[in-house]
Amino acid sequence: MRRSLIIGNWKMNGNQATIVSLVGELLSADVGEDVEVVLCPSSPYLHLLKTQLHGSDIALAAQDVSEFEAGAYTGETAASMLLDLGCRYSLVGHSERRELFAESDEQVARKALRLCSTGLTPVICVGESLSEREAGEAEQIIVRQLAPFLEGDGAGVLKKSVIAYEPVWAIGTGQTATPDQAQAMHAFIRDTVAAIDPGLARGMRLIYGGSMKPDNAGELLSMPDIDGGLVGGASLRAKDFLAIIDTVKHLVE
Ligand code: PEP
Repeated sequence: MRRSLIIGNWKMNGNQATIVSLVGELLSADVGEDVEVVLCPSSPYLHLLKTQLHGSDIALAAQDVSEFEAGAYTGETAASMLLDLGCRYSLVGHSERRELFAESDEQVARKALRLCSTGLTPVICVGESLSEREAGEAEQIIVRQLAPFLEGDGAGVLKKSVIAYEPVWAIGTGQTATPDQAQAMHAFIRDTVAAIDPGLARGMRLIYGGSMKPDNAGELLSMPDIDGGLVGGASLRAKDFLAIIDTVKHLVE
């Protein structure tokens, strides 16, 4: 049985006042234990959240991490610092990092390895663009992005990771993948992992991201290979984020 996972990615949004208020609202609702809930604030607010979430069931995550251990890397944040700040997870390879900051598949893999060796769980984001989907290349792109994780050290990393399938054309656009489109790609990813390790593929959590909202979460999350959601915009509104969590709770019951 794979435990459901709902991650809120706030991206570069919020300030101390809005974050204290948003987290306060989330904490006043009982998220329960059936669903694992995780929040990804911008790194300057990790300490604030560590304090606010202390003693709660909500876990903390970063949006990105340095591939380097420590040293002269101005502007970077080390995995050991994220651990020190109470993070359990970090995203790697979010499409905004790949597109806007030219992160390569290999760099994403090095970041994930750094997280694993520090005791954090990578959430490896993969997804195709609209033109790649229209050209019939979606599966090929996902295989390319996963390739560093399908052999050598990468396969060890995969055992300790979560994969987030986020079609780029659905992120922040309001255009969600249909439940069938999302399920088909999740099944494909699970099959791809099964080719190297069937046990790992059965146990591995695959979550969907891309304009997930209270009104489409139920259909997406009831698909057999979708184990949760990576939620951007809707995670900035407590009411919407809690409604998505509630949807999962009802599906689990
Ligand atoms: C995301 O940031 O990973 C995301 C899926 O954003 P949105 O839900 O806003 O599409």
